[in-house]
Amino acid sequence: MLKVLKFGGSSLADAEQFRKVAQIVKSEDERRYVVASAPGKRYSDDIKVTDMLYDCFRLASKKQNIDEAFKKIEDRYNSIISDLELDFSLNDEFEKIKMAIVHHAGEDYVASRGEYLNSMILAAYLGYDFIDAESAIFFFENGSFDAEKTNQVMAETLAEHERAVIPGFYGVMPNGTIKTFSRGGSDITGSIVARAAKADIYENWTDVSGMLMADPRLIENPKTIDVITYQELRELAYMGATVLHEDAIFPVRVSDIPINIRNTNEPTANGTLIVPEITDDSNDTIITGIAGKKGFSTITLEKDQMKKGVFLAEVLRSLMHRDINVEHIPTGIDTVSLVVPTASLEGKEDDLLASFDRRVNPDNVVITNGLALIAVVGRGMVKSKGTAGKVFKAIGEAGVNIKMIDQGSGELNIIVAVEEKDYITALKAIYSAFMG
Ligand code: ASP
Repeated sequence: MLKVLKFGGSSLADAEQFRKVAQIVKSEDERRYVVASAPGKRYSDDIKVTDMLYDCFRLASKKQNIDEAFKKIEDRYNSIISDLELDFSLNDEFEKIKMAIVHHAGEDYVASRGEYLNSMILAAYLGYDFIDAESAIFFFENGSFDAEKTNQVMAETLAEHERAVIPGFYGVMPNGTIKTFSRGGSDITGSIVARAAKADIYENWTDVSGMLMADPRLIENPKTIDVITYQELRELAYMGATVLHEDAIFPVRVSDIPINIRNTNEPTANGTLIVPEITDDSNDTIITGIAGKKGFSTITLEKDQMKKGVFLAEVLRSLMHRDINVEHIPTGIDTVSLVVPTASLEGKEDDLLASFDRRVNPDNVVITNGLALIAVVGRGMVKSKGTAGKVFKAIGEAGVNIKMIDQGSGELNIIVAVEEKDYITALKAIYSAFMG
């Protein structure tokens, strides 16, 4: 049995959090590889070290003095080191990094030092080896992640270390410069390490006891999701439910390694288990989660006796050439609607309408803004009859008009569009219809 653990920024924000982390790691012998974030927020208006580093980079690029800003970063690390009573100093590292920033090191290099330094402290505190991500995580020349080379080199590197800490968030370009993933990218590093180590589980330790069935800012006290499939997670994440970086499932998915979202501040809670597939699903709820987003528009085109295939292909070309993403395409006999993010339509409307005229000469085109999409996601929907009916009934009884319906053919989700003003009402109605 082998476990890979990733601790997020709030789990490593100060010495007290480091102590909790050490207790978690040391409580099971299988917890051999640990991926660390940079120190995050200790309280709500605190500043993450990563953001402090970006700030230093900006100051340096404007040729301003970074002494004060950099000193605050040193202080964050030094207080962790002294509170943990470690016989260990990062002074040489500070010196080197500060010089590099002043001499205009790249932005990604600067940002990556947050996890680099924190991982050094954690390795010293745990008595684990330190493996620099720079030696085992690779990007291609075009900036995309080189999964296969990384997997091979990471596996070889891990094999040389019984126990190790690896900094999250970054890797190296072919020319040797440091490149980071997008924000929150330490989740991806954890997944990469889990795959390379052939881990039995990837534990992602954060500050919530798992993923919730709905956004707690909108629904009071939503239930925690005990088990969710990778695919359901993708559906919910796409609609804005965030618990993990959206690219973090890809490395572990190759090897079917489950991810367990856990809470550093409540280590006895089971959290949420994200699994490839669920075989024994006997006592499951019908829906797994609900998520939604505002900011959508529909473009509805009408043409008598349209040849739908050709018509749609031409319409999609018009959208594609203008970089407008299409999210859903509900169709009628002589109508086609396209649901698009309003932001991707902005400033392009006139040009788009002209292009429709040229390509398909529609009888009528109507653009409606101000829509919200709600996704009701659940693997249980396949087996249980009447789920869609229950969703529509709940929304109708709440006095909300449904503008569009789309059910994914895998029967994993039902998407409805409502006016933005009705968004929360509809969300609440659906949640209480299923969760009572
Ligand atoms: N520290 C980085 C960030 O703030 C990466 C991470 O925490 O995953 O985005």
